[in-house]
Amino acid sequence: MQKNKLAQSLSQLEGHLLWLKEEGVRTVAADPKSLSTAPIRPPLTISHQPSSLSPASGGKTATPAAQPLEKKPATPKAASAQTAASPVLAEIAARIAVCKKCRLSQSRTRTVPGQGTPRPEIMFVGEGPGEDEDLQGLAFVGRAGQLLTRMIIRMGLTRDQVFIANIVKCRPPDNRTPAPDEMVACLPYLREQVAELKPKVIVCLGATAVKGLLNNQLGITKLRGHWQRYEGIEVMPTYHPSYLLRGGGEDKARWWEVWEDLVAVLKKVGREVPPQKNAPA
Ligand code: URA
Ligand code: SF4
Repeated sequence: MQKNKLAQSLSQLEGHLLWLKEEGVRTVAADPKSLSTAPIRPPLTISHQPSSLSPASGGKTATPAAQPLEKKPATPKAASAQTAASPVLAEIAARIAVCKKCRLSQSRTRTVPGQGTPRPEIMFVGEGPGEDEDLQGLAFVGRAGQLLTRMIIRMGLTRDQVFIANIVKCRPPDNRTPAPDEMVACLPYLREQVAELKPKVIVCLGATAVKGLLNNQLGITKLRGHWQRYEGIEVMPTYHPSYLLRGGGEDKARWWEVWEDLVAVLKKVGREVPPQKNAPA
C-alpha cells in the first residue's frame, strides 16, 4: 500500500516534470538535501531528445540521482515548439481543465488537452487518455504512447515536431471506449484545436478517432490506408498503437501496414522517407 502510494507520488512528480518540460520549462529549483536523500529513481532528464520518453533508450536516464535536472538551454526552435507558445491553445486547455460537460469529468485526475508544436505539419489523434495520461495530464505517455513515440522517430521526426491529442480529454473509467455522447460533448475542443493548429495531415489512430472526427462508422481495417478529409485537411486513418501492442504474433504484419500509412503521410507533407529494416513493435 505504502509502496503503491510512493509509486503514485513518483509518477505524479514525473508527470508534473514532463508537463513543465512540454511547457518549455528547462530548470527547476530543488533542495540539495532532498535530492541527496531522494530514493529509487534518478530524476528525469529534461531534454528535447525523444529518448527520454522512448523505450528505444531502454527507459534509462543517464543523470545520477544527486544532479540537478539538465539545464540545456532551449533553442529558439524548441522554445517555440511548445503549446504555451500559442495563447489560443492555452486558452482552450484552460477551458478543458474546468470542463464538466460530460460524466468523464467526475472520474478524471487531470484533463489531457494534448500537446506539441503549435505549428505541426502532422497531428495525431487518439481515442482518450489512459491511466498514465490521466495521472500526468499528457497525451500518449503510457505504453501505447511509447510505441507512438517510436513510430514518430521512425518517421524522422520528434514529438516536439508534431501535435498529439485525443477525441476525449478525460479518461474513460477502466479505459472503456468513450460513449457517443461523451465524444459529441468533447469534440468542439478538438475542432478548435485543429482550426488553430492547421496541420497539413491528421493521422487518426484507431476506429474511435475516425468515428469521433469523421463520423465514419466503417471499421478501421477497411479504412486504414485510405485518405479521408476533415475540414479540407487530409486525414489518414491507421491502427491505434494499442492494437499493435495487443496483436501478438501478428504485430509485425500490422506494423508494416501502419508504416505504409505513415509513408503515405510523409510523402503527402513532402518529407523524405527514412529507410526501415525492422518493425519496432
Ligand atoms: N490511448 C489513446 O488513445 N490516447 C492516449 O493519450 C493514450 C492511449
Ligand atoms: Fe469536458 Fe471532454 Fe472532459 Fe467530457 S471528456 S468533461 S467534454 S473535457
